[in-house]
Amino acid sequence: MVNIAILGSTGSIGINTLEVIRKFPGKFRVIALSGNSNSALLERQAREFRPLFVCVGQAAGVRRLKASSFGKKVKIFTERAGLEAMVAEKKIDKVVIAISGSAALFPLLKAIECKKEIALANKESLVMAGSAIMAMARKNKVKIIPVDSEQSAIWQCLEGEDTVNLRNIYLTASGGPFRETGINKLKAISVRRVLRHPKWRMGRKISVDSATMMNKGLELLEAMFLFGVSSEKIKILIHPEAIVHSMVEFIDGVILAQLSATDMRIPIQYALSYPARLANYDAGSRVDFCRLEGLHFQKPDFMKFPCLKLAYLAASELGTLPAVLSAANEVSVNEFLRGGLKFISIYTVIERVIARHRNIGNPDLEDILHADSWARQEAHNIINKLKYT
Ligand code: NAD
Ligand code: MG
Repeated sequence: MVNIAILGSTGSIGINTLEVIRKFPGKFRVIALSGNSNSALLERQAREFRPLFVCVGQAAGVRRLKASSFGKKVKIFTERAGLEAMVAEKKIDKVVIAISGSAALFPLLKAIECKKEIALANKESLVMAGSAIMAMARKNKVKIIPVDSEQSAIWQCLEGEDTVNLRNIYLTASGGPFRETGINKLKAISVRRVLRHPKWRMGRKISVDSATMMNKGLELLEAMFLFGVSSEKIKILIHPEAIVHSMVEFIDGVILAQLSATDMRIPIQYALSYPARLANYDAGSRVDFCRLEGLHFQKPDFMKFPCLKLAYLAASELGTLPAVLSAANEVSVNEFLRGGLKFISIYTVIERVIARHRNIGNPDLEDILHADSWARQEAHNIINKLKYT
């Protein structure tokens, strides 16, 4: 029985993780849950899974949890410090990091410091501080098992291989909701339209990232840090069917690919059960090759999705630039979701913040945190200027 903590259990990945756990009674025990603002859902989840520890983002949520019937049997934590304290609890074996955005960084670092096994869905933390995270994981001999479907695919294809023999990684992308939309139409696109992804149902931030294709840019950086591979070796391929979740090519010309149904519960399940594989019997979890109308691949359109160019720039320069890219993106996406920024201006804001940044090579965590808050402030200033011009 593996004792699991799910940070961000009220989000899309968190809910899917609980679905996987429900399917395998006796294999996993939910020992800790956390959510930010949706304390009603967190309470329902805690009522069903009976964890020992719960962390909620806001004080009102703490009152709600304490007042409920099981409140006295659970240790309740709150805010960032509480989340880090909860992660350190001895009884936790494995931590699923399903928080969105940079808020995942400190709980992730704490979990690594406490030598917990990590199932990592969050990508912003790696983009921001990938070198520091991977160095800390190596020092503490902690395994970071990727949950993101592309990284899970690459990780499975590289199992038992030496990355010295790697020629290329093909990072696949469904192309997002605007793969076939004309470039001119992207100017006046609504939040509702952006949130309607053709292949994946996900949280709001990653849905916007998929629409701008910044999601693939973040994944490019995520892969570089996870697998220690330079950006020249990572090729993004549009693959609309989203069945091949990524591929690796070796120096002898052999290519290994990981294929499975388009369902996040599959990589989540493997990250929970690794190194074992657990049987999936529902038809939806299988690929029926005879029903597929083909598997297609094409190059991404960098003109239509210029955020990809920014990500490749950050990937070639590294230093504090990936942190700046991710912070400026996070601020712009939140502002777009609030209705204060046009879809196409997400790129403009990030591009201007990057242009003003003085990159610092081989940054330590302090340099990264400084660059992160500088980029957020800069992004807010640019957004304000855009509003009044
Ligand atoms: P989501 O918005 O649906 O859920 C986010 C979760 O994080 C919620 O539980 C929320 O309460 C919590 N949270 C948000 N801000 C917080 C804060 N400041 N402090 C503490 N908790 C906070 O997001 P999601 O789609 O589940 O994505 C989570 C992460 O996984 C993201 O980094 C995303 O890029 C990555 N990811 C998601 C998918 C997917 O299919 N949804 C796939 C691959 C990777
Ligand atoms: Mg992905």
